[in-house]
Amino acid sequence: MKIQVITLFPEMFKPVLETSMLFKAKDKKLVEYLYINLRDFGLGNRKTVDDTPYGGGDGMLLKPEPLFAAVEYAKEQDSKAKVILMTPRGKTLTQAMSKKLSKEKDLIIICGRYEGYDERIASIVDEQVSIGEYVLTGGELPAMILIDSVVRLIPGVLGGENSAEIESFSDGKTKEFPQYTRPEKFKGMKVPEVLLSGNHGEIAKWRKNQQKN
Ligand code: SAM
Repeated sequence: MKIQVITLFPEMFKPVLETSMLFKAKDKKLVEYLYINLRDFGLGNRKTVDDTPYGGGDGMLLKPEPLFAAVEYAKEQDSKAKVILMTPRGKTLTQAMSKKLSKEKDLIIICGRYEGYDERIASIVDEQVSIGEYVLTGGELPAMILIDSVVRLIPGVLGGENSAEIESFSDGKTKEFPQYTRPEKFKGMKVPEVLLSGNHGEIAKWRKNQQKN
């Protein structure tokens, strides 16, 4: 999967996407990350990307011309890519949505900044996605959260022991049961007896019961 991110702050992405599983996914050529600097599409000598909102109000909005030009540039690399706009007004990201997106061939993700963006960009966007009911300063962290949740679901990214099939929300609602590792006793807290019993039937029953809590 090729993931192209349109952002004013490409440097924010490397430390996150070039670490651990997200890096391994790239190393295994299961995913490719490309950063498109919105500033490169800014207008005039000063490469302007923002302007004040019509109708008044605080803050600045990303202008439509650089946004359209950046998306068109990304589409030239990949005309079938799904275009996603990060916005608190979008559909809230869920595991089911991430699973669906992990089956896409390619993605283009637009990160808003300042007070947001000129609404006309929505006309060339396939999905508007929010990471929750709170407001961050920009779409970069939301985009990284979306990328992390999508990339780890691409077949071959996680090892068998990390199978995404038995995780929290893999069926849309159920959360994972509590897990323990060595030592058996730590600061006076013991691992539940049943997990030490070797009785797989009882362990499965206990785990199922725990998921109801
Ligand atoms: N004025 C906007 C509002 O009230 O909805 C908030 C703009 S926010 C400061 C700037 C950008 O950050 C947004 O355009 C969006 O790209 C991104 N952003 C902030 N919070 C987000 C969230 N919860 N989910 C997705 N993107 C978010």
